[in-house]
Amino acid sequence: MPLDQVPDPVFAERMMGDGFAIDPLDGVIRAPCDARVIAVAATRHSVTLQLGNGAELLIHVGLETVALAGVGFTAKVADGEQVKLGQPLLEVDLDAVALHAKSMVTPITVMNEGFALRVLDLDRRVAAGQAIAEISIVQSTACFPGVGRDPVAGQPVTAAAPDHLVHHDWVLASVEELSDTAQLTMRVPLANGVHARPAARIVAALKPLASDVTITARGAPANARSIVALLGAGIAHDDEIEIAARGPDARAAVTAVATLIEDGTHEAVHAPVSSPAADRGDGLIQGVRAAPGLAVGAIFQWHPTDVAVPEHGNGEAAEIAALAGARRSLLAAADGHQGAGAEIAGAHNALIDDPELIAAAQRSIAQGKSAAFAWRSAIAGHADAIRATGDALLIERIADLKDIERQVIALLTGTDASLPVPPRGAIVVIDELLPSHFAVLTVAGVGGICTAFGGPTAHAAILAATAGIPMVVAAGPAILDLHDGSRVILDADRATLNPSPDAAALDAAAARQSRNQLRVAAEARSAQDDCLMADGTRIEIFANLASVEEAAYAVTLGTEGCGLLRTEFLFLDRAIAPDEDEQCAVYAAIAAELEGRPLIVRTLDIGGDKPVAYLPFAHEDNPALGARGIRFSLARPDLLAAQFRAILRGVPAAQCRIMLPMVVDAGELATARAILDEARAALGITAPVPLGVMIETPAAAMLAGSLARDADFLSIGSNDLTQYALAADRGNPAVASMVDALHPAVLHLIARAAEGARAHGRWFGVCGGIASDPVAAPILIGLGVTELSATPAAIPALKAAVRRLDMAGCKAIAALALTASTTRDVRALLETE
Ligand code: PEP
Ligand code: MG
Repeated sequence: MPLDQVPDPVFAERMMGDGFAIDPLDGVIRAPCDARVIAVAATRHSVTLQLGNGAELLIHVGLETVALAGVGFTAKVADGEQVKLGQPLLEVDLDAVALHAKSMVTPITVMNEGFALRVLDLDRRVAAGQAIAEISIVQSTACFPGVGRDPVAGQPVTAAAPDHLVHHDWVLASVEELSDTAQLTMRVPLANGVHARPAARIVAALKPLASDVTITARGAPANARSIVALLGAGIAHDDEIEIAARGPDARAAVTAVATLIEDGTHEAVHAPVSSPAADRGDGLIQGVRAAPGLAVGAIFQWHPTDVAVPEHGNGEAAEIAALAGARRSLLAAADGHQGAGAEIAGAHNALIDDPELIAAAQRSIAQGKSAAFAWRSAIAGHADAIRATGDALLIERIADLKDIERQVIALLTGTDASLPVPPRGAIVVIDELLPSHFAVLTVAGVGGICTAFGGPTAHAAILAATAGIPMVVAAGPAILDLHDGSRVILDADRATLNPSPDAAALDAAAARQSRNQLRVAAEARSAQDDCLMADGTRIEIFANLASVEEAAYAVTLGTEGCGLLRTEFLFLDRAIAPDEDEQCAVYAAIAAELEGRPLIVRTLDIGGDKPVAYLPFAHEDNPALGARGIRFSLARPDLLAAQFRAILRGVPAAQCRIMLPMVVDAGELATARAILDEARAALGITAPVPLGVMIETPAAAMLAGSLARDADFLSIGSNDLTQYALAADRGNPAVASMVDALHPAVLHLIARAAEGARAHGRWFGVCGGIASDPVAAPILIGLGVTELSATPAAIPALKAAVRRLDMAGCKAIAALALTASTTRDVRALLETE
């Protein structure tokens, strides 16, 4: 039981340290791990142990048992003795002691500071020998003086925590606030290090707190309230960092920062972009694809020039006020943005508000410079610091700095921040595109964008992809010499720019373009119609969703329902779990956007590649095979029950279906169903709610028959099914090409699952990535799938592809695919289709 429930304030208020309590059902108190006995109480009712990592553990049998003066207790060990896990320490005559003690509840606490204790299981019956808690070091001796001090020898023991213990969220739970300082060492799990987004979130999280916080990487401290300082620190994946805070809320500040850094490990690893060779020898200029598509048009060299600014100001007070005013106007203007634009505006706001930038500018102003001049030089200084990190991903973010420089200076100098408008259909060439350039380009209706520098993860690239403008980046400085007005082909799909296409190339590109346009227009026209195959078979085309906005977008693209609502989105990127009401409101909003269409809500699938910092996960060497998906939910039935209630309350019964991730057998389904039934009963819902399972593990595919007996529907999670079937990590670029759901082994598993679904007449869909690929549709449908849940953008094309298929052909190709030996064979079959 939690320590707070121990009916003794000495323990409940943690005067004896953090811990938990057990209610012993057995009269032998055993060593909970290998340890040295510090002392057995003279009255034998308690024992203190020193663990291998220096933690001092008190096991106090019963409450107020000191008064028994040893009656009913027998010591089995002596002071100083080394004991092994499971070795008896005390024997207790439970009946005799229980008669006289206030309670048999037995607190177990860590008495010295600097250790984190995490209870693995609460309120459950556990057997001797079962792991119930983890204790690890969280602090160096420098921060918490008592840490690791050997009470017997008086010598400090090494307090460096083993690597795998350093960075776990639960460690944070017990950062003690002994003074106005706190400090924590951790490794950075973020795939891309502390780049702009985590930096912006750290700065935002610290806003309500008062303490000064620094993050030190490789010996250099950076102000954690400054996004530019954080970027300049170049904190990379797996760096060991020290987070230190000083102030009234030091502990909260350290915890907030560490939690944010711990969070976000789900971020994809982007390979740093090296500038490819500009000239490939075939006359084409090679870049990097930032947004797909093909464009033919005239070059427009677009070089918004820097506005000239006066070096000298009109007095310190006036210039400081002017700078503050310009910053305020920009912050206010950013409120109007939506979608991807809003996120980017948020990152810009953090830069506009950055204390280091402001301080640097104010220092220049104090030396007589104008606000505009000071702002420009402050930005230049920080851009240099970021460039000096040599980190390609961070360097891409300099564009954001330049952007706020341009905007603030336009306001300060009263110059027109508006940019020259490129002609409609032009291929815009620029050294590096800034996010604020974007509005002009979309309004102008440019055909494509090619940049000399920059990378595909730059914010401008995200905006181009969202706006559907083909964009190639990092094509090299040679493009800056191309003549205005010359006709070029920008093939963003192949990441090339053809600077001097001959007539044949232009014709071929124009033909491809008009085919694409016709196809897209035709697909859009019929996107809202139900999807029927050529032979009249109905196939449902649903969308995979992760937000209210996506639901609305998917409806405009013709979705017929939601085949997978990834509810993780509600739990990630935040400091605490969303409560039942918050979840309910979001599920209700998504259901409303779907306007009565079916909504399959998947229960929380965290763990694995999607950890959340505020929920305790034990360290896992191999999280993909660990406590993720339904395993986590069943270990936290309280969270699962709350989620079930939120879904049942939020989603109208006619739309509502619930799906469980990472299931391996019908036992998990039965347990989850019992929790769902309780939730229904609590809400007075008598009608059954369809409960389905994802087929994401080979085990589930093999046992699909028994799962389908008990489940209301099955849906293939091909992403995980593929990684587990092929033993190839879906997030590892080294094996990325292997992770193809059209591998024959995966197809056999899907066929097996289809058989199970068919035997019990169950609805059978696919919601993994393969469902979005029109090329794969004939095989999936031929194997028995009747629903494909795709990314919203893929829906119109997928519907069109499915309408061209007939069932006999699909069955034939599926049968052939099952005879294939390799993925390549399967894909070859589809090419000849
Ligand atoms: C899958 O594994 O295919 C799936 C749809 O789930 P996720 O991608 O969210 O793991
Ligand atoms: Mg999955």
